[in-house]
Amino acid sequence: MPWRCCVPGCKGYDEAKSMGVVFHGLPTRDPPRCRTWLRAIQNPRLHENIPVSKYSGVRVCSLHFRPEDYEEDFKAKILNIPPKPMLKSGAVPSVFPGRPHGEPGSTGTSPPAPKRSRTQVTRFQKIQQV
Ligand SMILES: [Zn+2]
Repeated sequence: MPWRCCVPGCKGYDEAKSMGVVFHGLPTRDPPRCRTWLRAIQNPRLHENIPVSKYSGVRVCSLHFRPEDYEEDFKAKILNIPPKPMLKSGAVPSVFPGRPHGEPGSTGTSPPAPKRSRTQVTRFQKIQQV
């Protein structure tokens, strides 16, 4: 069954497949992490308040993960077979090639520093700029 990556602006499935890209389902068993993914993905159709059960068909391709987001497949290394890409338990998509940069703090994927006041300040500055 052909899956499509849910990241807006991501390359099509066929191209991804030819590049050896794999698709990951959302971590539906872990709703808070699921929402973190959705905030990172920024797909307007996938709102973070949608019930988690609706995410079962949503796929994110491996283009949006860094190499360090994957578990090392020791078994594959020992047996000298192609490693099976497995995401680490805390991995969140953080690589978005087509997305314009220059908005620090807008994705919420930065290291754990939950300072609400700072984001509020940025928002306030943005309003002032407009
Ligand atoms: Zn993708």
